[in-house]
Amino acid sequence: MFITDIIDKKRKAYSLTKEEIEFAVNGFIAGDVLPEQMSALLMAIVINGMNKKETFYLTKTMQNSGKTYTFSFDAVDKHSSGGVGDSTTLVLLPILSSLGIKVAKMSGKALGYTGGTIDKVSCFEGFNTDLTQKEFEQVISKVNGSIISQTEDIALADKKIYALRDKCACVESIPLIASSIMSKKLASGSNTILLDVKCGEGAFMKTKKDAIKLAKTMVEIGKLDGKDIVAFVTNMDSPLSFGVGCAQEVYSVINALKGESGDLLTLSKLLSAQLYSMANRVSINEAMFEVEKSLRSGLALKQLKNVVKAQGGDTAVIDDPDLLLRAKNKYEMTYDGSVGYIAKINALTIAKVQKLLQVKASEKDKKLCGLILKVKVGDIIKQGDVLATLYTFDKVDDGVKQLFMSAFTFSSRKPKNEKLLIKIIK
Ligand code: URA
Repeated sequence: MFITDIIDKKRKAYSLTKEEIEFAVNGFIAGDVLPEQMSALLMAIVINGMNKKETFYLTKTMQNSGKTYTFSFDAVDKHSSGGVGDSTTLVLLPILSSLGIKVAKMSGKALGYTGGTIDKVSCFEGFNTDLTQKEFEQVISKVNGSIISQTEDIALADKKIYALRDKCACVESIPLIASSIMSKKLASGSNTILLDVKCGEGAFMKTKKDAIKLAKTMVEIGKLDGKDIVAFVTNMDSPLSFGVGCAQEVYSVINALKGESGDLLTLSKLLSAQLYSMANRVSINEAMFEVEKSLRSGLALKQLKNVVKAQGGDTAVIDDPDLLLRAKNKYEMTYDGSVGYIAKINALTIAKVQKLLQVKASEKDKKLCGLILKVKVGDIIKQGDVLATLYTFDKVDDGVKQLFMSAFTFSSRKPKNEKLLIKIIK
């Protein structure tokens, strides 16, 4: 087999065989296929796509290039394609684990402008996310849930190929994104998987059409591998939670677990009920009843403490969430226009503001910088109302203020209600 023939075949839009895909990927890992050859193949895939089988073979080859975790119990996993203020994992994990469902969560660090779950749990001083597989299993056995940092040995080929995609403009491709995400999901050991594919201004996938296509592709891959898998396609035009930034998002998570209404709680409940119904083979209505009971009784909040403690973290911020808002400077951003509605809050712009608020903070204080929105889309607003509080160790200069204000669209007419859950793909 020659790599040049494989590149040529894909360039002419033919489908590749399992053996050809393995030859290219494994050859690239071994150094026999050169980066320029792999880049050419990736670009041919970006342009000509891959069918269902090719995408599955690519996923499995990348998964098999690293370690695959297995557990001695059934575990569930939820994966978000990444959004702004998306802290559903930290709400869902305690809900489900309080209901006896084992949640094994391998998470990533920051992607783009927003922090990952691993950055967020660093707000619980001492929380150890570098557990061995044995320790990971022990924590799950003890408290039904654990969050660890995605280990280096998972889907090694994906890491190498992702780095190359980033350099040769080959990130935006549905088969490449789907196989990259799924190679890691299939390696992380859970048989029940719920994907949350984000769609809109603050997401990778900007259009519903692309988000649905990505979700369908990932569900197909999971099914071909024998997993119980469902995908939600959800709206990510405006930030999901009031808090944006690690400490502010943990603050919102604690409020959500205490029942604060908002998109974060709504979506976390929907995701939890879906996973509960998949794991326990009950209807969504029955599952939602259990989820709401866990929240109402305070069990879910208590369970967050149990998980944090089991991983060596300090639970003081759960007892006193104001400790999370200890950045040196706080600024209130107020509205200066006439009475109207909030029509849009651009998630990506808000994420950029949050990033700018971190610039002057020391490495350990960056997690304390961010903002808490005081309003949401559809709210009526009048002059002098506070739009958000910003938390930083810096001054908030005019550039940051202008960027913040540019995230908002105001309207004299009530905006149309955007659906949070766009589609469920089974
Ligand atoms: N996340 C991944 O893990 N891979 C991609 O290709 C895109 C997002």
